[in-house]
Amino acid sequence: MSKQTKFIFVTGGVLSGLGKGITAASIAHTLKSRGLRVNLQKCDPYLNVDAGTLNPAEHGECFVTADGAETDMDLGHYERFLDIELTKTSSVMSGKLLKKLIEDERDGKFLGQTVQVLPHFTNAIKDNILKAGQGFDVHIVEIGGTVGDYESPAFIEAIREMSLSVGRKNCLYVHVVYLPYLGASKEIKTKPAQNALKDLRAVGIIPDLLVARSETSSSEEVRGKLSLHGGVEKDAVVLLPNAPTIYQVPITLEEQGVGSLVTEKLGFEGLKPDMKDWEDMVAHALTTPSKSFRIGVVAKYLDNQDTYISVFEALRAAAWAEGVDLDLAWVDAEKLNNAKNLDKYDGLLVPGGFGERGIEGKILAARYCLDNNIPYLGLCLGLQVAVVAAARKAGLAKANSTEFDKKCIDPVINTMIDQKGKEETGGTMRLGNYPCVLQKGSKAHDFYGKADIEERHRHRYECNNDYRDQYKSWGIEAVGMSPDKKLVEVIEASDHPFFVASQFHPEFNSRPTRPHPLFVGFVNSLKNLPR
Ligand code: GLN
Repeated sequence: MSKQTKFIFVTGGVLSGLGKGITAASIAHTLKSRGLRVNLQKCDPYLNVDAGTLNPAEHGECFVTADGAETDMDLGHYERFLDIELTKTSSVMSGKLLKKLIEDERDGKFLGQTVQVLPHFTNAIKDNILKAGQGFDVHIVEIGGTVGDYESPAFIEAIREMSLSVGRKNCLYVHVVYLPYLGASKEIKTKPAQNALKDLRAVGIIPDLLVARSETSSSEEVRGKLSLHGGVEKDAVVLLPNAPTIYQVPITLEEQGVGSLVTEKLGFEGLKPDMKDWEDMVAHALTTPSKSFRIGVVAKYLDNQDTYISVFEALRAAAWAEGVDLDLAWVDAEKLNNAKNLDKYDGLLVPGGFGERGIEGKILAARYCLDNNIPYLGLCLGLQVAVVAAARKAGLAKANSTEFDKKCIDPVINTMIDQKGKEETGGTMRLGNYPCVLQKGSKAHDFYGKADIEERHRHRYECNNDYRDQYKSWGIEAVGMSPDKKLVEVIEASDHPFFVASQFHPEFNSRPTRPHPLFVGFVNSLKNLPR
């Protein structure tokens, strides 16, 4: 393979949230399926340093990489579409680069120069992109937001300059636009896309590939118009109507010739794609099995599907593998005060979360599953509330986590032993991969099929070891431990069809073609329920 990394830059126009991340991931998929080594990177022009403090209700889930970076949710799509493990270099936010620039300025590293957006900030962006692309055949860089946003000019200028740094023939520019549908005249309009293309031209970029997203399918006439106004060849205009599943998009792109077009433009002619496994998975996703189960996801952020996107994708992947249909419903933890409202669900899942809001509802959900033999999957906070529920059931009525009751009588969950006293400070979280040893004979061990695992974490609180020897009397067991046995990683209810919770976030390691064992176990247990 060629030694020069080729770069693909993906920008957006008209509006944000139009599926740029899915498009970038899907292009990457068509390249990986041709045997190319592909990397992806998300550049977010926000002034934040990372996604750790961003409100998930607004920005979607904070995705955690194996090496412990708190990143934009698009990295989750990248990992799922490519079945790869990304690193912290795949996520860049302005704040991270600006912080370093200002520190360097204070350290006198600029030797009296005026420090400017161009060239210093743009150079920092370019260096970052070049570094992340090292060792790959193709490096795909998605720029967050839309061209014309207040924050993004330096990023757009940096990617324009990249064609000077590495050669125009080694760069490919992809612009994703939105085509609104006007109900009154029953037509798809291209004007906003034309304007967005004008904005892009004004900053010196003419795209090689134009991806036009729309709710419904658009005509060849639309393709012609976009080609003319965008200065893009007709066969480089891709029409992308809403897909029945996001995993269909790589296949649609392939059908429209994107894989061949991109590889030819970048000088990788003659490679044939192999998308067999992916196509099989999509076929599964598109069939509706006769058996259906209702799952309640008990959480507090209910207004944005993206808040727990990895959890939902992991549930779907497990359902396809198990050949069942899942009806996924939100249960508002803040309004949950009566277990009766839960009897319509076949299983409950409590995902990760921070803060006190809705916590009693989540504890109630875990207790309901414990009491009624209903399958329960707890993720991170979902483990902590499960332990609190089991303790309360056993008579420790005031049991809680010190996150929610600082002075509680029975703090069955508290801060990490080695971080006591630092609860309020930032940067004390356990982030990224940590090892865990599973006990033979446990459900978790059965589903993983091995004892030694490694999973991603993002939390500050842990099971309080002072209470561990009481677990058996509460009806639960710590079946997954850190290798030094100091930290509880997985708990299970001993006499229950499926009551399993992990301190880590298994959802980040689930893939559509390789569902995660704990999710498979959860969905599998639904199949054995008496109905
Ligand atoms: N708030 C809990 C903690 O900090 C759980 C975090 C989570 O669910 N990601 O430990």
